[in-house]
Amino acid sequence: MSSLLLRELSSGGHRCPVITVGHQDYDKYRRVWNGVVDRHPAAIVRPKSVDDVRRAVHAAAISGSLLAVRGGGHSFPGFSTCDEGLVLDLSEMNAISIDREALTIDVEGGALLGDLDRATVPEGWVVPAGVVSHTGVAGLTLGGGMGWASRRYGLTIDSLLGAEIVTAAGEIVWVSANTDPELFWGIRGGGGNFGVVTRFRFKMHSLGSVVVGQWNYPSAHGREALQTLRDRALRQPRDFALNFTATTTGLSVTAAWTGEASVAHAILSPFGTLAEGGVGGVKEVSYLSLQSRNDEEYRWSRRYYCKGGFWFDVTDEAVDAVFQSIANAPTSHSEISVLQLGGAVSDVSDEATAYTGRGAGYYWLAEPIWDSAADDDRCVAWGRDAGNALSNSSITGNYINEQADAAPAVALDAYGAEKYQRLARLKARLDPQNLFRLNQNITPRHP
Ligand SMILES: Cc1cc2nc3c(=O)[nH]c(=O)nc-3n(C[C@H](O)[C@H](O)[C@H](O)COP(=O)(O)OP(=O)(O)OC[C@H]3O[C@@H](n4cnc5c(N)ncnc54)[C@H](O)[C@@H]3O)c2cc1C
Repeated sequence: MSSLLLRELSSGGHRCPVITVGHQDYDKYRRVWNGVVDRHPAAIVRPKSVDDVRRAVHAAAISGSLLAVRGGGHSFPGFSTCDEGLVLDLSEMNAISIDREALTIDVEGGALLGDLDRATVPEGWVVPAGVVSHTGVAGLTLGGGMGWASRRYGLTIDSLLGAEIVTAAGEIVWVSANTDPELFWGIRGGGGNFGVVTRFRFKMHSLGSVVVGQWNYPSAHGREALQTLRDRALRQPRDFALNFTATTTGLSVTAAWTGEASVAHAILSPFGTLAEGGVGGVKEVSYLSLQSRNDEEYRWSRRYYCKGGFWFDVTDEAVDAVFQSIANAPTSHSEISVLQLGGAVSDVSDEATAYTGRGAGYYWLAEPIWDSAADDDRCVAWGRDAGNALSNSSITGNYINEQADAAPAVALDAYGAEKYQRLARLKARLDPQNLFRLNQNITPRHP
């Protein structure tokens, strides 16, 4: 199969170099962000144009090869690389262009969040996305996309106006609410199941000054801090964003305000007095620095696992699960991190997009982080156990982008049976052979 693939890739018309074992850059490009993932594809291509993408998709389809599509390479389970098949690495396609009259931005499928923020933020605009700047726009958007601006402006998909997609049949289509409403519904949360997105078009939103309060509470007062936090977080305006992270050393609370600057201190300061011992303060920061403050902690090649879910509220049971689980964390970098949702995310109904979980008040993530392969088993086991404990308070629906396990049940659980069937019908139309299967996979089902 791989000789067929290589023959197809070297046949007339292919303009991008084919990187195979022995090539000086093979090791560099076969690697992905999660150091646990160590795979050896037969070939890697790095397209520069939509036509290059179309040819590579055709080569994989005709040779019956496994195809891994890579945006930013940050999939926890390592979906964007593979053994033996073809890696279609879009990182050379990261161009961005802004339409200042329409207030829209076009972003190619290999761009990173930092590329997007650096194009928008200095001009006073924002597209709501995630919180680590080396994450890929493509994978994040196709699953939903949540971060500091989500309560104010919704998920990343809520700003999506359209996308250019190369389908399994090798067609290049522009997908929007007008051209193909069902596929537009599916790509807003359905992951990379339906084709390769070569370009996204987003609506931009205004972004004023950003004020951030950040405090660390010692473990001894963490529980009390969290119990106070959940009351203070209630009924906050949607310009307010909140994250808390439990580690073996305590509870870190970050509250951000992007609304009217004169009230920032009044809104944020109460999060510095949740319990005794809070150390930190409030200051104005650049949005770009907020977006990259965790880049080093979540650097490439460390070892990661995660399991996430939605809470309606931070119940007593959830607080217990957080502190009981973190007490057994396998490394000091491991964490349970929680982002407040609601606001604009919940303005959209669950039926309107494939993303499922609009009613959630919070998204939680249990994430062991470690550096040695010798610790793989115990770190993954902790992540699973902590995730199971936190799941006891979870509502139905889930976020496919932050689940390191890749069993078929993950997608079914995330979307629920009814939505999964709708996605499966769409998959049967767009990709009946399941060429795009390295993702939280929707298996094609004929209606
Ligand atoms: C450090 C870190 C921080 C994160 N922070 C956030 C956060 O704040 N908010 C949030 O919502 N999520 C966050 N995530 C989760 C993130 O959304 C997912 O990991 C996402 O899949 C990453 O996208 P990627 O393009 O970098 O990954 P990749 O591994 O390249 O791709 C992920 C999936 O998308 C598919 N895909 C990639 N590009 C394309 C394309 N152009 N067309 C079609 N399919 C494609 C791949 O085949 C794969 O199935 C974070 C992840 C990490 C590792």
